[in-house]
Amino acid sequence: MVLAEGFYDVEASRRRDDALRRRHLPVLYPRQEGSGQALPLNCSRTSEATDMQTRFPPVSPLAAALGCKCPRCGRGALFRGFLTVSERCDVCGLELSKVDSGDGPAVFLIFILGFTVVPVTLWLGFSFDLPAWAPVAIGAVLVIAISAVLLRPAKALVVALQYRGRRSG
Ligand SMILES: [Zn+2]
Repeated sequence: MVLAEGFYDVEASRRRDDALRRRHLPVLYPRQEGSGQALPLNCSRTSEATDMQTRFPPVSPLAAALGCKCPRCGRGALFRGFLTVSERCDVCGLELSKVDSGDGPAVFLIFILGFTVVPVTLWLGFSFDLPAWAPVAIGAVLVIAISAVLLRPAKALVVALQYRGRRSG
């Protein structure tokens, strides 16, 4: 509640914080530009943040990743090509163009494939009477096939985790 310009009802803010915590909603304090001071919850920008939480309840990063969906609404498509992230979510309008997943998805896959495909390839090579190139060829095909399947969800997971971290940070 704004009592006068520049003054806020601290008790009302505290009551509203408690109400948000009871409903397991994050209490957000948007920073006032320039001053670095937190705005109280009842100012208009905080109301916008609360409105967003009501309109877009939190989406599980794993669910968003498996469906390759927008991390905010969980409905809009995240990609517009195979691995190209859309400029903006078609459903909620979240700007996705600044998302940078970097090497995260590739690192995920390097670990997963390294710990699964390499032992399988070695087992094939030592257990069966195959020509030397066969286990290598099978391993290469497995790496390409599993990467093609998992790269999009891995990238979507990194994007969703970034969004979640930024929202609560
Ligand atoms: Zn969206």
